[in-house]
Amino acid sequence: MDDEQLTGAPVKRGPGRAVWVAGGAALAVAVAAVAWSVVGREDPGPAPGGGGVSVTPTATGSVPDAETQMLTEIDAVLKARAAAVLAGRLPQYLATVDAKNAKLVQRDKQVFANLRKLGLKQFSYARETSFVPEKHGTDGWAVRLMMVLQIEGIDAAPRATPLGYTFAQRGGRWLLVADDDLAAESDRGTYREPWDLGPIEVARGGGVLVVVPAGEGANARRLVQESREALPAVRLATRRAQQGILVIAMRDRKSMDTEWATGGHPAGAVSVRNYSPTDAALTSFKVTGSRIVINPTYRETSDRFLLAHEFTHAALSTLGNSAPTWLVEGFAMYVENRLAEQSGSADQVADWRDKLLSKSVKPLVVLPIDGIFHGDYDEESYGVSWLIVEYLVTKYGLDKVNALYADLAKGSDDPAAREQTLRKHLKLSEAALVAALKKYTGPS
Ligand SMILES: [Zn+2]
Repeated sequence: MDDEQLTGAPVKRGPGRAVWVAGGAALAVAVAAVAWSVVGREDPGPAPGGGGVSVTPTATGSVPDAETQMLTEIDAVLKARAAAVLAGRLPQYLATVDAKNAKLVQRDKQVFANLRKLGLKQFSYARETSFVPEKHGTDGWAVRLMMVLQIEGIDAAPRATPLGYTFAQRGGRWLLVADDDLAAESDRGTYREPWDLGPIEVARGGGVLVVVPAGEGANARRLVQESREALPAVRLATRRAQQGILVIAMRDRKSMDTEWATGGHPAGAVSVRNYSPTDAALTSFKVTGSRIVINPTYRETSDRFLLAHEFTHAALSTLGNSAPTWLVEGFAMYVENRLAEQSGSADQVADWRDKLLSKSVKPLVVLPIDGIFHGDYDEESYGVSWLIVEYLVTKYGLDKVNALYADLAKGSDDPAAREQTLRKHLKLSEAALVAALKKYTGPS
């Protein structure tokens, strides 16, 4: 299905270049993945002083206490489970699961083994206290949770990922009896974390941790090597670096959200924001970095150029969400193309630049607009945006471009505010920038 969609999108391939792509299928987008609980919350907020527990009144009136008691015990089970993951104690972990549910036990064992491979610095489960437990089956209660995990040497802070667990009493103890009752919640998204997708292998080095399906270790090591080649170019251009980056290159299509697309076809890879909870009740989050998810179709051909593009998005992701798309994608394309120039593809980059300058820049009236950026003409949007950034770097230098980016990213996406920021940093209006770009002939 994806291949069909992809055939219409030309992928430029140069000699010795697997997928550095000037336009089309493997173009990558920055994705603001929405944390599960950030949107679509329809349940009532926490009752004042009620610990977020609300219940259907019954004749006996004793239910609130029973529910509070249940949630207290469920929290204890979750705590024991998290401690078992961190300590590597499988028996203690499995003691939290209904042993009669063989499929669940098997799946859970796999998740445990996978999580242990990541090298966890912190790991916990946090229950969404504002969520009212849902009745499932005859005696089960589904609760919404966040798994909160920090990978050693990779994540700057623990990031949250949504879960729905159903608990029921077995032999007088609350146990996990199902892990998929809430899987279809509309705000859950359609992707799954790599540890939920069968046995994994990992490779670590040079500031990245690559996760692949078992049996694809060679590709993980290849991607570590490609990352090593990409990261210096990213650091040089953005003046910043994440502590480390998680790179996900799974075979399973569920590793990628179906909405992560550009111009109507799936992105080659995406930089996905990591959300870290800023309060125990899981009502607010902040972006503390990004991870990279490679499209399964391209997992074995993704190279340093695609990674440089995504790593650029990742490095800038904590600055804010409001930078115009032409600057976000233009900067990533700039880093990608700089690396291409330094890797023996200067002629191809120059050819593309010339083509864009003679055909796509000439009719430009305004800077590429956010809302139509990923539309039918996205190839030109990316290319034109690259040239805008290249022009800005050539004329003003990287420090100024980075300062402009930081200011725009944390500001408002209102056109007037952007214009003001542009004038502040470049002493230039948007119209003047477009006019200057039309006279641009290339760097040096
Ligand atoms: Zn991009």
